[in-house]
Amino acid sequence: MNNRTLAIIKPDAVSKNYIGQIVKMINDGGFKILRMKMVCMSKKSAEGFYEIHKERPFFVELIEFMTSGPCVPIPLEKENAVEDYRKLIGATNPAEAEEGTIRKLYAESLSKNAVHGSDSDENAVKEIAHFFSRDELLNNK
Ligand code: ADP
Ligand code: MG
Repeated sequence: MNNRTLAIIKPDAVSKNYIGQIVKMINDGGFKILRMKMVCMSKKSAEGFYEIHKERPFFVELIEFMTSGPCVPIPLEKENAVEDYRKLIGATNPAEAEEGTIRKLYAESLSKNAVHGSDSDENAVKEIAHFFSRDELLNNK
């Protein structure tokens, strides 16, 4: 059965013009791109999205980074989407990411790590809804 995950091309990768290369890797990985938009997250939106990390020491840095410029949220569909997309992006820290992964190729640091990926089916549903209405996810809207 197909399931979904949320990719985000983060502000560091957008500002370095890596959108095209990253979207190509997503395509080549066999994911269906359901929608895509470029947005500037407000502080409130970023704080809501990363609420699970609000007690972490890097939270303020993370919110500043995610609101520093436009990013590109992309809901994806594929069998085993969450796990397969996390394999494609590699470890959170690019220094630990496997060769050929998106973060190994395009991330500059642990915080500015080029892309987001949902960590569970449950969070994927919530994260996609953060950026896309139900209508927007219909084919004919
Ligand atoms: P992932 O994005 O791989 O799921 P996490 O959910 O643990 O990683 O963290 C969310 C985001 O917070 C990371 O992608 C990264 O941008 C940032 N981050 C995580 N850990 C740190 C850290 N120790 N220092 C700075 N930023 C971090
Ligand atoms: Mg995470």
